[in-house]
Amino acid sequence: MRTLFTNARVDGTGRTLDLLVEDGAFARIGERLSEALPAQGMDLAGVETVDLGGRLVCPPFCDTHLHLDYVFTARKPGATNESGTLFEGIRRWSETKSDLSVEEVKERARRAVAMELRHGVQFIRTHADVTDPRLVSLRALLELREELRDLVTIQIVSFPQEGMYSYRGPSGESGADLVEEGLRMGADCVGGIPHYEMCREFGERSMHTVVDLAVKYGRLIDVHCDETDDPNSRFVELLAALAHREGIGELTTASHTCSLGSADDSYFFHLTKLLRAARINFACAPTENLYLQGRQDTYPKRRGITRVKELSDNGVNVSLGQDSMQDPWYPLGNGNMMIILDYLLHLSQMMSFAELDDALRFATVNGATTMRLGDGYGIAEGRPANFIVLDADGPFDAVYRRADVIRSVRAGRTLFTATTTVRSDVAPLTLA
Ligand SMILES: [Zn+2]
Repeated sequence: MRTLFTNARVDGTGRTLDLLVEDGAFARIGERLSEALPAQGMDLAGVETVDLGGRLVCPPFCDTHLHLDYVFTARKPGATNESGTLFEGIRRWSETKSDLSVEEVKERARRAVAMELRHGVQFIRTHADVTDPRLVSLRALLELREELRDLVTIQIVSFPQEGMYSYRGPSGESGADLVEEGLRMGADCVGGIPHYEMCREFGERSMHTVVDLAVKYGRLIDVHCDETDDPNSRFVELLAALAHREGIGELTTASHTCSLGSADDSYFFHLTKLLRAARINFACAPTENLYLQGRQDTYPKRRGITRVKELSDNGVNVSLGQDSMQDPWYPLGNGNMMIILDYLLHLSQMMSFAELDDALRFATVNGATTMRLGDGYGIAEGRPANFIVLDADGPFDAVYRRADVIRSVRAGRTLFTATTTVRSDVAPLTLA
């Protein structure tokens, strides 16, 4: 099974390439393959040709931080978050989660995945709340991971939403016990939430447990870390140090780290030394944290975002997540990574042309680095033929236009195409 995708703009140079896909992988990538390959003796008869029209082609979007078990629960009775804070969100979820069923979670999660797919996402890291002795969320998402694997790659974090040592289940089980049970059941990553634990010592202990479990089960780490405006919330330091000591920094992600937006510069300066050495990843959810943080502030009001620009300038990998879709933590969220990226660039003041030209990496390769996708990701010969087409003529144009994804291809198979053609006889509009 072969398809030749022609006229693909893969970078900002203006040149176009053709992509020959064979058995789900990129077989050849080069200029004018429709002429070059027959000249080299390859018979293209019977090969389907798809003209990509000179539009921008890039590897699929990666949403590295999402809660698929929470989606579309914001309007459930009792789930309304009146204060708009993270901590009320957790309480609302805790109070309303007892009626979940595997089928119901799957139905909601499936709708959310469909929205993400429609926006060009093909790689999702989702958290599954395991502070529930029935482990309903986890069982649902494990099933969905397998059912949808031809369409989307899902990584699941065994995540103790109500804490490792602050949560106690009806039979005395701790959140840590349930996280470990989640790993035995097949979760891909170990989760934690140290800033939510009842006291600092529990939070620190949970970081030791996270790293120990990751080593014991050979899994990745993704911790909700320092998701607070408190500049003294510094669990990322301990997480980075422990992961570095075990040699698993690159397998580790600190999500949110909003407190770095409040910490003073001398602390951050000291921390960057460790972060550069440990090579841990950061995941940022700009829209949710802009909404949730700064709620105790009057004015000036904090932005809730971690130091994306400064981390990036220090060579630290930062990726992006939607985090929420209509859940007790955020009433919006539709899986459109271009919206999330737009917020990131504004909130982080990353607006030099060099930064804008390179901005798509936050939603693409940086996410792949976080998720450790390796050779399973990227537009290169021999790799799976996964890519998206944006309605733009280059990387800057995509960011400038907040471009729509007009095609998504997975293992050579087109998942969808969309058209954004505007028809008008009104003179100024014909220039748009
Ligand atoms: Zn989260």
